[in-house]
Amino acid sequence: MTAPDADIAVVGLGAWGASALWQLARRGLRVIGVDRYGPANINGSSYGESRMFRTACLEHPGLVPLAQRSRELWQQLERESGTRLLEPTGAMLIGPEDGRIVGGALRAAREHSLDIEVLDRDALHRRSPAHEALPADHIAVVEPAGGLTLPEATIRAALASARTAGAQILTDTRVTALESESAGTAVHTAAGRVLRVRQVVVTAGPWLDQLVPGLPLEVVRMPTTWFTPREPDERFTLERLPVFMREVEDGDVLWGHGTLPGRTELKLGLEDGGRHFRVVDPETLDRSVSPSDWSVLGRRLADAVPGVGQEPSRATANIYARTPDGQFLIGRPRGNPRLVVAGGCSSHGFKHATGVGEVLADLVQGKEPAFPLGFTDPDRFE
Ligand SMILES: Cc1cc2nc3c(=O)[nH]c(=O)nc-3n(C[C@H](O)[C@H](O)[C@H](O)COP(=O)(O)OP(=O)(O)OC[C@H]3O[C@@H](n4cnc5c(N)ncnc54)[C@H](O)[C@@H]3O)c2cc1C
Repeated sequence: MTAPDADIAVVGLGAWGASALWQLARRGLRVIGVDRYGPANINGSSYGESRMFRTACLEHPGLVPLAQRSRELWQQLERESGTRLLEPTGAMLIGPEDGRIVGGALRAAREHSLDIEVLDRDALHRRSPAHEALPADHIAVVEPAGGLTLPEATIRAALASARTAGAQILTDTRVTALESESAGTAVHTAAGRVLRVRQVVVTAGPWLDQLVPGLPLEVVRMPTTWFTPREPDERFTLERLPVFMREVEDGDVLWGHGTLPGRTELKLGLEDGGRHFRVVDPETLDRSVSPSDWSVLGRRLADAVPGVGQEPSRATANIYARTPDGQFLIGRPRGNPRLVVAGGCSSHGFKHATGVGEVLADLVQGKEPAFPLGFTDPDRFE
């Protein structure tokens, strides 16, 4: 192999890749980050101004230490960037006690002795009156230290810190193929440039399996909508309507939060696991929210938060990559010593971005991550 261009290439600079680039650069490795679009672009999964942060990881209790470590790293990134990136406004998880949302949150909270509060339906309605029409058996798990993270600002801060620590960044550069060579990997780009590196970290979000074929991923659309209340309404402030996930009909999950300070819109979306909002090809994605999307989303919203009662002021369809079991893919596929992948966020990966960056840096350096993440092994379905 000719002299490498860098020790490591990170392909895909969304939330996970930007964090990996930051962590690798601060360990003194020569890293180069590559993205087919610009930083904090609208095309991948890390788009839309806000994300829920919580350590009550209902998806798997083993994710709790990762979320806790992510919070520490977020605070470090805030110090380095001088920017507020994580607002602990509280987070609410609502549904039946034995349902996926509340049941999962209670399990994670019990196993890790998390600081949570449990509200019955009436107490929840008093605290957060926008949550109307709750079935009698619905309760809320409130995590006071949960809150909101800012995706675009987080990515920009991680990339700036990475650059300060010596990382090179190539934007508008699409990677077309990864080719094994005798002592490393050749990273081919659409413009014909070839980067030679010792190892590659692929964090290409919904495009991950284009570069690493065979990973069990499908890409799902998820409409996101913003509403401007006709007149100022106390129920829809962030204080009264903190970031939430709420189980509604058929296991669909309504999520969102009230208006951010200085803003007029509240944000609401629906996670339905691909039942109505189909599986798509990210190359030919239609980002508009169609009348058929709205017929499902609008009905769920009207039932759960009747006060909104109008069509959205803004709407877009975001995408995420989902695995068959809803857990991430993090590791070396088939033990490949030159390749680390991280993806399959299954719509709950943003809160772990900074921690995943650290795990990826550990894997690159041949270190065991600080906590067991075997359930994210990319080969577990084989
Ligand atoms: C609507 C919505 C709401 C969500 N809400 C939450 C939430 O509240 N809390 C939470 O924790 N998680 C949430 N998630 C999930 C979270 O947003 C994702 O887990 C996270 O953004 C994934 O980041 P990523 O870096 O893996 O992927 P992405 O952000 O998609 O980044 C992938 C990057 O790879 C680049 N790329 C792709 N192919 C190539 C190529 N060939 N060459 C070079 N670059 C390439 C892309 O341009 C992109 O920048 C939500 C997801 C969606 C869609």
